[in-house]
Amino acid sequence: MNAAVSDALKIEEYRIQDEPYYEPLGDEVAVFEAAWRNQLPVLLKGPTGCGKTRFMEYMSWRLDRPMITVSCHDDLTASDLVGRYLVKGGETVWVDGPLTRAVRAGSLCYLDEIVEARKDTTVVIHPLCDDRRLLPIDKLGEVVPAPPEFSLTVSYNPGYQSVLKDMKQSTRQRFVALEFGYPPAELEARVVMKESGVDQAVADRLVQIGHMTRNLKDNGLDEGASTRLLVNAGKLMRTSVPEASACHSAIAEALTDDPDMLAAIRELIASVY
Ligand code: ADP
Repeated sequence: MNAAVSDALKIEEYRIQDEPYYEPLGDEVAVFEAAWRNQLPVLLKGPTGCGKTRFMEYMSWRLDRPMITVSCHDDLTASDLVGRYLVKGGETVWVDGPLTRAVRAGSLCYLDEIVEARKDTTVVIHPLCDDRRLLPIDKLGEVVPAPPEFSLTVSYNPGYQSVLKDMKQSTRQRFVALEFGYPPAELEARVVMKESGVDQAVADRLVQIGHMTRNLKDNGLDEGASTRLLVNAGKLMRTSVPEASACHSAIAEALTDDPDMLAAIRELIASVY
């Protein structure tokens, strides 16, 4: 099998076959689709666990494009994204990184929490994010043009913003930005029911607890409970963990280690049960 055929087969593994369950919060589906058709990169802003990854899975299915996701971290370098030479069986071979594979295959590339990555990564994404749409691969002396189907999406949590980790204007002004937040109560309860299998009354109580913890943001908590945590608590309940105990493990302990804060959240939970 030649390398191009084997790469094409591998990229198919990233195609999403079944429609992912996604409840739209607003017009994000239409805006993303329009950005993709106009070859504009997209920035998803919002706290963790509020549906950004699920939205991307849904868009990947809807646009029928494979999606390559990279979770960025503070050791992630440009080479991790673009590729590197590796020694295999005594031979030195070039191996494309996930960004290069996505560009060559015309797929969606989702860089989750981009501000966590090292600064040199911005050097490789900049020329991809303006009308040039080029990926320079210095080590190969090659510049790969992105096909029209390729799209770059990055996510960023403004809540974790710090002077060091803020996104520079020269980077952020290249993107169409979509803001994600916690869904309105009714919609969030629907997500919790659908994702965990609990009934409406249980989902409503979970959403109520979620709201209470979100009111503690900046009063001892960095962030309130995300939809993800409410879904996790619902899943424990469906597997016969008592409701208060499920909330304690899936929500309170997941949010904080601070004993006073834990006691406060325990009281909030007790006020609902
Ligand atoms: P993020 O990428 O923003 O950290 P995720 O997309 O992983 O968050 O969302 C966490 C979980 O919350 C999902 O696995 C899903 O169960 C649920 N969820 C959140 N928002 C939605 C939504 N709008 N539609 C469907 N599920 C959602």
